[in-house]
Amino acid sequence: MSARLFHFLFPEVCVVCGKLLMPREPGCCADCKEGFDGFTDARAAGHMLMHSIRSHFGKADTLISQASCHYRYSRHSPLQKVLHSMKYEGNYTLCRAFGRELGEWLSDVIQPESIDALVPVPLHRLKLIERSFNQAEKIAEGIAETFRRPVRTDLIERCRYTETQTGLSVSERRENLDAAFRIAAEAMPERILLVDDVVTTGATVVAAAAALKKSGVLAVSLAALALTIKE
Ligand SMILES: [Zn+2]
Repeated sequence: MSARLFHFLFPEVCVVCGKLLMPREPGCCADCKEGFDGFTDARAAGHMLMHSIRSHFGKADTLISQASCHYRYSRHSPLQKVLHSMKYEGNYTLCRAFGRELGEWLSDVIQPESIDALVPVPLHRLKLIERSFNQAEKIAEGIAETFRRPVRTDLIERCRYTETQTGLSVSERRENLDAAFRIAAEAMPERILLVDDVVTTGATVVAAAAALKKSGVLAVSLAALALTIKE
């Protein structure tokens, strides 16, 4: 069935406002998208993302060499509906579409030639069964359309949930995260782009980057759809 006919028979609605979508509006309408709090510069967004991670974990620069994110996110912002639909409703279309845009946005700061593989932050095995898919993986598939690099889900595993970091010192936080991820492959690519949907404290991405670096990966870069901003 052609995409056009499919759209005619099964019209999709915007996850934010519920309006019928045009064929070139995957998951979310253009009007709602305009209302999202997007960064205007990919490099400045990267600095802000790293600054936020540093404020929780000290010098994260030894772990993450380049970074960027596309949107600022706060609870009750319209973007919340998008992130929720990606995470809990299995909205592949949305993940892919935002991933594709993130890939284009990122390539200003992180050159695709400087990356060997895209690695979505993995969910814990049990969580993956419960949710049936990992939204970070679908976002990474969207990025891969621009980057033309493989999405590798076989390199790293999550061995336990990342516990709450509130009230811990920087060194305690690091220690707490040390065993959160395990390397699952024998040969690792040299330069990895780690992909996640939202960075809040950065606990998860710092732990994943630490595990990757420990295994001999030379450079870990970070791409996130959104950075949580305190209200
Ligand atoms: Zn809308």
